[in-house]
Amino acid sequence: MDDFLDLRPSATPVSDAERARRMSDLGFGKVFSEHMVTMRYEGGAWRRAELVPYGPLSLDPASTALHYGQAIFEGFKAYSQPDGGIATFRPEANARRFQASARRLAMAEVPVDRFLASADALIRQDRGWVPREHGQSLYLRPLLIGVDPWLGVKPSSSYLFVLLASPSGAYFAKGMRPVSVWISDDYVRASPGGTGAAKCAGNYAASLVAQAQAAQKGCDQVVWLDAVHRRFVEELGGMNIFFVLSNAGRATLVTPELTGTLLPGVTRDSLLVLGREQGLEVEERLFSVEELGEGLANGRITEVFACGTAAVITPVGSIQSRRGAWAVGGGEPGPVASRLRDALLAIQHGTAPDPHGWMHRVC
Ligand SMILES: *Cc1c(COP(=O)(O)O)cnc(C)c1O
Repeated sequence: MDDFLDLRPSATPVSDAERARRMSDLGFGKVFSEHMVTMRYEGGAWRRAELVPYGPLSLDPASTALHYGQAIFEGFKAYSQPDGGIATFRPEANARRFQASARRLAMAEVPVDRFLASADALIRQDRGWVPREHGQSLYLRPLLIGVDPWLGVKPSSSYLFVLLASPSGAYFAKGMRPVSVWISDDYVRASPGGTGAAKCAGNYAASLVAQAQAAQKGCDQVVWLDAVHRRFVEELGGMNIFFVLSNAGRATLVTPELTGTLLPGVTRDSLLVLGREQGLEVEERLFSVEELGEGLANGRITEVFACGTAAVITPVGSIQSRRGAWAVGGGEPGPVASRLRDALLAIQHGTAPDPHGWMHRVC
């Protein structure tokens, strides 16, 4: 379905040697592929999309997004497959969440078929930018901003959709490294009726000062509590969070339920499915800081980890708050987190069967 998209690739392609040089030191989100897709919404309709060389955008300085924050984004990955082809992981889930985020911020929704076809076209064009090693991927970053050039506070009537791609290295090149986290009492990420379930730029802007406070306390990441009771654990930085509870040798996987203030992660959803398949009890429910503190003190909680597209699974090695400090699982990645991560990566890299139809073959 490329009939809405015009291909205008670069007339001066990057040489193989130059591409290899740029891809020799991949971190996360530092290197960009050669092209991007742009598409405008005007007069109540989406216009034709264009695949063009990656480069600066031209924006009116009065654009809505720059003043009032009508800006949302997504993130998903394309993985190289054993036969040399490329497949994306659950892109339709991201397309639907992008629409849900747009609705929350009163923005125009990008049709799912255009979202998917834009990604496929960009990946096919830039397939040389999909790294091939295990754990590496091409990270796709769709973005939608309001671009009406006036300062009235109301939903923009024109929008710009941009899709970029960034080759990414394995997040933990030398194996998973557990992070330390700070439970924030001073700041909240999301409140009932707010934008916590939307992937909007403003949520991230509002989180940075809490992240800075966590760093000041010597921690890598911040843990968010609910805004009303300041008791229930919601997320970890820009990731969802899981706890592993052991009960007479049987492991239970617990993650905070989707109350409307959490971001419904695709990785979270996938791990709930894989956890059940691996024979774990799985619970989505409220999880308080008291339960966390007691469970860590008496050893009932054996693992804590975060999950999201970028890092897949990030084990937590220590937790600090005003109420106390705890080590988790001896500071080492736990077996449940390791097994889930291996199972997910095997599906993504096409080395394990895909019974749920999560992989979308691009080329
Ligand atoms: C994107 C995001 C996640 C993770 O979602 P995935 O679909 O798994 O990548 C979790 N929490 C927040 C706040 C996010 O923005």
